Amino acid sequence: MLSAAVEQLLLPAECLLCHALLTPRDANRIVCPLCRQRWKAVRPPWCQRCGQPEPHFGPCRLCAQWPAALRSVRSASWLEEGARHAVHALKYGGLPRIADDLAAAMTGTRPPSDGPSALVPIPLAPKRLRERGYNQSDMLARALARQWRIPVLADLLVRMRETPTQTTLTPETRLANVAGAFTAGTAARWATLVLVDDVFTTGATLAEAARALEAAGARRLYGVTFARAAIPDFT
Ligand SMILES: [Zn+2]
Ligand SMILES: [Zn+2]
Repeated sequence: MLSAAVEQLLLPAECLLCHALLTPRDANRIVCPLCRQRWKAVRPPWCQRCGQPEPHFGPCRLCAQWPAALRSVRSASWLEEGARHAVHALKYGGLPRIADDLAAAMTGTRPPSDGPSALVPIPLAPKRLRERGYNQSDMLARALARQWRIPVLADLLVRMRETPTQTTLTPETRLANVAGAFTAGTAARWATLVLVDDVFTTGATLAEAARALEAAGARRLYGVTFARAAIPDFT
């Protein structure tokens, strides 16, 4: 207790985003409550399945190709301003502890569960994992596991290869781009598996991971991400 208090005096913690000093109550946070409130929540109306905002013309193009076991995907916040900065800190800033702040914003994304459920982080390929030292989705899954009190299955899904940066591809090309990227261990004993990733763009990565888990026996899959990137020219 004392050493923590002394450490605080020596190093007053400040919010990563607005640099305001954190109160003792928030001393373990990276982002202050005000900045977390400023993250722009993704809200309905949306496609019931992929959570992408409507209006759509005809059936949703984003989730039409998804494997049947993937029931729905939800994201907490739009990837803009402070949320973008926070994701960057999680991914490249060497600040995995920020996962707790992101997970706190994801409370409302928790899918329904029926029977034993577990969290499955989207894995990195081994080379990328060595470079970064940690998997940001794994950090996020562990933070959610503390909140939701369900286990993390960090080894269930394996990434066979890293996929090229996908920023300019259409949803269809992205799906082709990640085809066969994952393999999964036996998943049949879990009634519900919840895939966890930091950012949703077209959902291609989540869909491909779901395909591998479906082939391994998973029946009910959901996806949750902290952020959702707006897709240019896509309705
Ligand atoms: Zn702040
Ligand atoms: Zn959809």
